[in-house]
Amino acid sequence: AIDAHGLHKRFGDLQVLKSVDLSVRSGEVVVIMGPSGSGKTTLLRCLNLLERPDAGTVTVRGRTVDCSARGSGRGRARLIRDIRIRTAMVFQQYNLFPHMTVLQNVVEGPLSVRRLPRPYAVEVGERLLERVGLADKRDEYPSRLSGGQKQRVAIARALAMDPEVVLLDEPTSSLDPELRGEVLQVLRDLAARGTTMVIVTHEIAFAREVADRVLFMDSGYILEEQPPRTFFTDPASTRVRSFLRLMT
Ligand code: ATP
Repeated sequence: AIDAHGLHKRFGDLQVLKSVDLSVRSGEVVVIMGPSGSGKTTLLRCLNLLERPDAGTVTVRGRTVDCSARGSGRGRARLIRDIRIRTAMVFQQYNLFPHMTVLQNVVEGPLSVRRLPRPYAVEVGERLLERVGLADKRDEYPSRLSGGQKQRVAIARALAMDPEVVLLDEPTSSLDPELRGEVLQVLRDLAARGTTMVIVTHEIAFAREVADRVLFMDSGYILEEQPPRTFFTDPASTRVRSFLRLMT
């Protein structure tokens, strides 16, 4: 579904990604873990080209952007736009439009970016709100929702773009423990339906249950990559062992 090769990213003198490779197959759920500052958020932002990698390639649906090529031009701009649309992001802080209702938030992208006819976009939007358990909130404004509800709207909004892969950056870390469960349940359902996802999270029990693979990032590298059972019970590196000890 998405392939990234040789991604490098620096901010000033700080090399945040050091040749990261990541391939995610259709229907796969990949969880990324790692200490604070290891580059997890930067990797997600580079995958959807919200952040421009200094070098490397990103391929989505067989179309590749070579980030080291300095070209601009219409063709390249369109390619970057297409990849961004196909790799929907869900942020820690939801990033909903405060002046739009729940339904308007969900249909905005399909209407203005995908240019779907309004009745169709609304139909899809309503179906997605139902899937995340918020059909009855369609006309509310975000300020009247709980954090867990806001995040479920953000997930519906991402799905409304019909993405190849959904990239989720610590989707539950702004939430109180009692609201985390409802968001994790939505993500479990999506995983069971075969939604391709890359999730940065510290939720160990969740990762164990839904991940097909767990990647561990440290200092801008993918240090280890394992099926969850191995990752959590018998990781290869002592770095992962000590990280997990701190987490549990
Ligand atoms: P956390 O778990 O704390 O969110 P992370 O693994 O997601 O951490 P990143 O947010 O990717 O890490 O940040 C990696 C490093 O890059 C950090 O040292 C951070 O300060 C730095 N960084 C990230 N974005 C920028 C930016 N726009 N400008 C300068 N430095 C940045």
